[in-house]
Amino acid sequence: MPLVPCSLANPTMEFQNLESQLIDRFGRVHTSLRVSVTDACNIRCRYCMPESVEGFLPQNHLLSFPSITRLVSVLAQAGVNKVRLTGGEPLMRPKLWELVAQLAEIKGLRQIALTTNGMLLASQLDQFVRAGLTHINLSLDTLREPAFRQISRRDGLDRVLEGIQAAVESPLKVRINALLLRDINLDDCLPLIHYARKLGVVIRFIEFMPLDANRSWSQSQVVTGSEIRRLVEDEFGPLAPSDHSDPSQPAKDYLFQDRIGGIGFISPVSEPFCSSCNRLRLTADGKFRNCLFGREEWDVKSILEPSEGGSPCSDEAILAVAKKCVANKHASHGISETHFQPPERAMYQIGG
Ligand code: SAM
Ligand code: SF4
Repeated sequence: MPLVPCSLANPTMEFQNLESQLIDRFGRVHTSLRVSVTDACNIRCRYCMPESVEGFLPQNHLLSFPSITRLVSVLAQAGVNKVRLTGGEPLMRPKLWELVAQLAEIKGLRQIALTTNGMLLASQLDQFVRAGLTHINLSLDTLREPAFRQISRRDGLDRVLEGIQAAVESPLKVRINALLLRDINLDDCLPLIHYARKLGVVIRFIEFMPLDANRSWSQSQVVTGSEIRRLVEDEFGPLAPSDHSDPSQPAKDYLFQDRIGGIGFISPVSEPFCSSCNRLRLTADGKFRNCLFGREEWDVKSILEPSEGGSPCSDEAILAVAKKCVANKHASHGISETHFQPPERAMYQIGG
C-alpha cells in the first residue's frame, strides 16, 4: 500500500496510510469533523433561523450518541483528529456531556470542541469539563439587550454573558464568535472587542453567509473582514499576524500590539478559503456533507442504525460513505458564481 510522508499531508502523524485517509480530488486532507447534534434552538437568530419553525427533527431521526461515537472512532482511524459539536443549539440535546465523555475515549482525537449560544451553559459547564471537552466557542453579536432581541428574536443576553463568564473561569480554551449585520449591530464591533479583551479571550468575526432560512441574505448586509480590520486598526493600531494562525483554519488570527486577547476574521464571502478546507460535516439526522454550501448529502444513519431485522454495518461501510462524500467535494463553494443556489437546508439544520 502506498505511504505518504505525513509532513506533506497530515502533520499530526509521522506516516499515514494513504488509502485510509479522507483525501479529495484536490489533495485536501480531511482531519476535522463538525457534528450537529440537533436542529433545535432556544433562540431564533435572523441570519440563521426563520421566526417560527414548523417542527424540529423528531428524537428518532437524530443519530444516537453510540452511533456518533462509533462513526467518529472510524473516522479517527482515517486521520480525523478534531471534532466540533454544534447544531442548532447543541445544549438543547439532553446530557450532551455524555457524548463528550464517549468521544474523549477515542484514540487520535486531539480536540473535542463545542460551539454554543451559551444560554444553557452556566449550569452544564462543569459536566462538560469533567467529560473531557477541550475547546468552546461562544456566539455573541452584541452587548445591548435590545439589539440581542432584534437579532435573536428572544430575550436572554444576561444568560449568554453568564455562560461566557463561567467558560472563561473554566480550564477550557474559550473563543467568542461574532457576526455583524450592517443595519443592526455594526456599532457593536468595538464594544465587543473591548469586552473580549477584558476577558483576555480571542474574538472572531464571521461574515454573514447566504445560509439564512429566510433567504434574506444580501451582500449589502455583509460586513467584510477587511472593513472590520480597518475599524479595529483605527482604534487599536496595527494588528500583527498571530504566531498560532493555522493555515487549515478558516480564520486569519491577529494580535493586538499589547498582546491582550486576540482577533480573527472568518471571511468566506469576501476571501474564500476553500483551497485549504479540511472539514467534513455530519448533520443531526446522520447525513455527511462536504461543504456548508453543498447541495448533496450522503446518508450514514440508515447503515449505522438499520431498521429492525437489518444487520449492523461494518466499519469499512461507514468509511466508504465518508470517502464517497469527500470524493465528491467541489473545488470551491461558488457563492460568487452567477448561478449560485443556496443549499435547501439553512445553517441551523446543517450545523455551523
Ligand atoms: N447555536 C450555536 C451558536 O449559535 O453558537 C451553534 C450553531 S450556530 C449555526 C454556529 C455559528 O454559526 C454561530 O456562531 C452563528 O453566528 C453562525 N451562523 C449562523 N448563521 C450564519 C450565517 N448565515 N452566516 C454566517 N454565520 C452564521
Ligand atoms: Fe440558534 Fe445558533 Fe442559529 Fe442562533 S446561530 S439561531 S443560536 S443555531
